[in-house]
Amino acid sequence: MPSEPGFVVGLDNGGNKNNATVLDAAGRFLVDCMVESPSRVLEGPDVAVEALAQAFAAILERTGIRREQVRVVGLDTPGPASADGVIASKGSTNFAHEGWHGYDFRGALERRLGLPVVYNNDGNAAALYAHYALFGAEAGKHSSVSAIVGTGLGGGVIESGWIVKGAAGMAGELGHVHIPMYGLLAEDQPVPECNCGFRGDAESVASLTGIEKNLLPYWLVRFPDHELARAGSLARAAKLVRGYGEKGDPMSRKIFEQQAMALGRLFTIAANFTDPTAYFVGGGVVETAPEFREWVLAIVREHTLLRDEQARVARFALVPDLDMAGARGAAVAALESLPGR
Ligand SMILES: [Zn+2]
Repeated sequence: MPSEPGFVVGLDNGGNKNNATVLDAAGRFLVDCMVESPSRVLEGPDVAVEALAQAFAAILERTGIRREQVRVVGLDTPGPASADGVIASKGSTNFAHEGWHGYDFRGALERRLGLPVVYNNDGNAAALYAHYALFGAEAGKHSSVSAIVGTGLGGGVIESGWIVKGAAGMAGELGHVHIPMYGLLAEDQPVPECNCGFRGDAESVASLTGIEKNLLPYWLVRFPDHELARAGSLARAAKLVRGYGEKGDPMSRKIFEQQAMALGRLFTIAANFTDPTAYFVGGGVVETAPEFREWVLAIVREHTLLRDEQARVARFALVPDLDMAGARGAAVAALESLPGR
């Protein structure tokens, strides 16, 4: 061990904001809130890398850490990107500027900062943080799966404390796993379609896009007098469903019941694939009233079919500190990369 164990910086790059954190060698976070700055990704890679370098400098100043004390930097971004941070050749919503297509984001930040940079996509980073937050020093003895419901359905698979990345960096794409629809959909409900081209995968139900494209159009016909029928557009109405659900609105509860069932069925597949200790649910539901999120989590649990031996050890939990989970997970992954860990 070197005489000074040093620190790790985590940088979470989002569509609008960067969020930064610092982790010490013992795994303690020096920052207990969001430290945000504009990410400027829409202006292309040169501007965005510079924005991250500024976020890096600002978090060091805030925590009183000298640059020489930083051993490694963790970066997470939305996908799709390769396991080592090359943005997909087709770009994506966040990386629409053509300079991003096939861009080595990790390598560029590494050159700019003059420090090693460890890359993960945001779903995997949040999954790793949830895992460490629950298991702490025992993280290496457990596995977990996280499903994070947002615009799409992201997440990650953790095995013995490490992110399962896969050959092409595409492991943990839980949203595009097919789940059984029988008994989940109403009898006359069409099989939902996903943006990826699949029908009946987890994201086609358990995502904001799934609400807008599939669930809301069906349920609004059954509840024609619902206020959301006058929201102006399905996109607008879809964003309001959660608030209605929190207040106990029957149609919105139907929609969230179907989403929670979908997550349970996805977790049932996970139970048979990797038999994890913990099943995490993340996304907007984490930020809702306790009654609502406990109701959602109970349905997820009810529809996760485990064997008795599995049920005795399984834990169901919400991804904690959701808006900080990306930066924190990126930092944990960077810490894990250090020799001797
Ligand atoms: Zn899909």
